[in-house]
Amino acid sequence: MTSAQIRQSFLDFFREKQHTIVPSSSLMPDSPNLLFTNAGMNQFVPIFLGERKADVSSWADAVNWFGEKNRDGTLNKTSDTRAADTQKCIRAGGKHNDLDDVGLDTYHHTFFEMLGNWSFGDYFKKEAIEWAWELVVGRWKFPPQRLYATIYNPDKSIGDPADRDEEAWNLWAEKFRAVGLDPAVHIVNGNKKDNFWMMGETGPCGPCSELHVDLTPAGDTKGALVNKGTAECIEIWNLVFIQFNANPDGTFSPLPAKHVDTGMGFERVSSIIQGTKDFTDFANAKISNYETDIFRPIFDEIEKQCGKRYTSTLPQPNAQGQIIPESEQEKVDVAFRVIADHIRTLSFAIADGIQPGNTDRNYVLRRILRRAVRYGRTLGFTEPFFYKLVGVLARTMGDVFPEIRAKQKHVEEVLKREEESFNRTLDKGIELFTSFVASEKQQQLSGTSAFKLYDTYGFPLDLTELMARERGLTVDIAGFEVEMEKQRKRAREAQVRDVIELSEIETKTPTHFIGYDHNHTGADVQEVLSV
Ligand code: ATP
Ligand code: MG
Ligand code: MG
Ligand code: MG
Repeated sequence: MTSAQIRQSFLDFFREKQHTIVPSSSLMPDSPNLLFTNAGMNQFVPIFLGERKADVSSWADAVNWFGEKNRDGTLNKTSDTRAADTQKCIRAGGKHNDLDDVGLDTYHHTFFEMLGNWSFGDYFKKEAIEWAWELVVGRWKFPPQRLYATIYNPDKSIGDPADRDEEAWNLWAEKFRAVGLDPAVHIVNGNKKDNFWMMGETGPCGPCSELHVDLTPAGDTKGALVNKGTAECIEIWNLVFIQFNANPDGTFSPLPAKHVDTGMGFERVSSIIQGTKDFTDFANAKISNYETDIFRPIFDEIEKQCGKRYTSTLPQPNAQGQIIPESEQEKVDVAFRVIADHIRTLSFAIADGIQPGNTDRNYVLRRILRRAVRYGRTLGFTEPFFYKLVGVLARTMGDVFPEIRAKQKHVEEVLKREEESFNRTLDKGIELFTSFVASEKQQQLSGTSAFKLYDTYGFPLDLTELMARERGLTVDIAGFEVEMEKQRKRAREAQVRDVIELSEIETKTPTHFIGYDHNHTGADVQEVLSV
């Protein structure tokens, strides 16, 4: 199956189960507590909180999910209490930050699609688990002996609302038994961290159950690799059963209406289906999100532009557990993966109205962009190149996310401008970094050096840390913070001075306030211009 068919097949499956197919929400979250939309459930929070009634059929109006054939919307409008979609997600900060894994593993992205199905006070565990099995095993033909379901089974001492999710255990057990597998092997207990979902300290919450796939050549690990952070066994689907309310006094009460919230990694599922040639060949499988038809067109374009080849090498952890690309080709392959990941993040974020900038989520984007531009040097790019990849996304993803096609030109302009700006200081910064490292001759780059790179050359701290990591070094973060604080103090003092000076000349020259801007340091500087 192509990835487009896989996505469609997920949505078709849930439409058959009377789900309304709704559009992905914007990457710009409604909640001020979130940097970016990071899960399919974000847009449904008001329903879970009871602040909005379940009315998803009215959300489908704008959807052209099924292309021309269903653009009249009739088939989409199925139910108010069941929804399914594919959601654009970014996990590059806050609670979910997968940025450092990107390039060094094959299944964590900063931007990815999360396929999901929801019940708002409608069906619960029984249907959720039965349908998950029906889709994954029945329709997609995942070999059940390679599947492991985790269930919530906490340490009783922490006072959780239920000892273990007996109901989920029984439902999965029935499925595994039916195909002759031992539930005691294929159902794995999980603790509060992995298998209990809470939105915050209080509010709707509940146990979850996840499906993991054993991808070893023989597929006989008996669940030993589940949640061990290895590509040999990866999590594909999280089924959350929202059934409790966490009260401010630390107790839990059952919710009057129970909900289901699921999230499946679209790129991961595609990588398994495509990498094993529809499960026919695990022994020679090349299972990596980057080996799918989702990433191949991006790599083709990068290869065309730089003349280098992507060869799928992956640096392995050394004796100290550090992952440092060694050979030239390893460095090149890491760069390919990072750039292909980051162009999706930047393009979709900008298309949703989030610009690279100097504070908050905008600065997160700028950091990611600068990282990509630095990796571009590894591929030999010295001129802006990143913006030239947007066209691939518009071509390959524009049917599913029309905004990327509509905003292509704008996204390209923003990226090009950002690249040009960073290109002006990047090489000098790299030179300076190299000389710092040589002159300091320590295991740690000093805070002053990191600050100089930040302040003068626009190197985000995490980029300097990354470059240090590539040489097995660390950065003195505390020292950096000290320099940063001094800078803030200077900026505050300068601001006071400006205001005093301005008030002195105010009577002579009219002034025009053009808003707040931020200098390199991220400190607020009030710009007041004389007109
Ligand atoms: P992992 O343990 O692999 O980091 P997770 O438990 O953080 O995943 P969830 O929050 O449960 O992930 O999200 C639901 C699904 O989204 C996961 O089962 C996985 O398939 C997918 N997913 C999560 N994070 C990423 C990511 N960074 N890139 C691609 N897919 C992801
Ligand atoms: Mg994670
Ligand atoms: Mg997990
Ligand atoms: Mg999970």
